[in-house]
Amino acid sequence: MSLTITLLGTGSPMPSPDRAGPATLISAGDEHYLIDAGRGVLMRMAALGLGAPNLTAVLLTHLHSDHITDLNDVITTRWVMTFEPTPLTIVGPVGTQQVVDHIVASLEPDIGYRVDHHEDLGYGFTDINVVEVEQGPIELGGEVAIRCAPTDHKPVHPTVGFRFDHADENGSASVVAAGDTVPCAGLDSLSEGADALVHTVIRKDIIENVPLQRIKDTLDYHSSPEEAAQTAARAGIETLVFTHYVPPIPTGGDGADWIALATPHFTGTIELGDDLHQVEVTPK
Ligand SMILES: [Zn+2]
Repeated sequence: MSLTITLLGTGSPMPSPDRAGPATLISAGDEHYLIDAGRGVLMRMAALGLGAPNLTAVLLTHLHSDHITDLNDVITTRWVMTFEPTPLTIVGPVGTQQVVDHIVASLEPDIGYRVDHHEDLGYGFTDINVVEVEQGPIELGGEVAIRCAPTDHKPVHPTVGFRFDHADENGSASVVAAGDTVPCAGLDSLSEGADALVHTVIRKDIIENVPLQRIKDTLDYHSSPEEAAQTAARAGIETLVFTHYVPPIPTGGDGADWIALATPHFTGTIELGDDLHQVEVTPK
């Protein structure tokens, strides 16, 4: 079975009319793993014919606001679009439990309105199982094996990347979702020998010339296309998938200038695209 990568949101904290916030879906058959839950994530999933009830789990790379903007939407919509208790598993770095607790606290009036109004919600609010992780395998009960390793997005800390491995009679396929990070040993070890690497990237050659310190501050905790390409090359990755474009690639553009920066460092395939761009990783 293939692993399918869908770039649900290729944007960044800066609102875009065309690019949703950071979110990536990794799918294997009926198993759907949502990596981060940025702005508009459920709108993009709806375009795939999927909704919050279809999610096997939500996995957060870190707790920066642009990566969790719509986690509240996932939580609420999962609850109101299911008709029996349907627990939601949320995996993330240490601190995730506290963030989820606060989101649920902010939803308390809404939860009260809905329980009072809808008799069939009498079983109450959905159970949320938060799993805080640092490193190693994550047992979620599916056919896809998942593990994580620490990344380096300091001063944002802790942060993690996730690896998805699926094996069957046709072979195996593996995808790594790096999240926001500079090149680091944790991501190197996680990516070793994987087929595809989904990596957030910013154009440092452009951002370093923006005369605004707050924008320049982002240089030291993100990877450039060149750095992501070097990470992919070290790990023996075949397909490097860029997302989280800063500044945004014009919608419908081919990103040729981004790819040109990466190709001197990486000889594999480079994928990028607009929201809903899909990459299929076939087993071998
Ligand atoms: Zn971040």
